[in-house]
Amino acid sequence: MDFDMKSDEIIFKGYLQYHANKLILLKANLSGKIDVDCDICADNFDLDLNEEIEFYLHSGIYKSENESLLEVIECLDDTANLQEILNSEIELIKSDYNTCENCRT
Ligand SMILES: [Zn+2]
Repeated sequence: MDFDMKSDEIIFKGYLQYHANKLILLKANLSGKIDVDCDICADNFDLDLNEEIEFYLHSGIYKSENESLLEVIECLDDTANLQEILNSEIELIKSDYNTCENCRT
């Protein structure tokens, strides 16, 4: 199942693929610009995004039998809430250590 989402200046594009054991593989590319604060000078700047995202979604409570290296997100709805995933990815990037061009050089 292909999906293509936009949130402000961010494009979230990819597909979902059903996997064994009720797992759904999500593969997507996050691109566009995101508004972040520089961790050094606190200036607001646009960060260019181009990230490949890959993880498994699971409907219902997921119990891993062996520790998997892949990230599994529990989703209690049968349909994965893509908007929520997108939002949490954006939050993750925002909380990362980001430095503007001036401070990087
Ligand atoms: Zn800076």
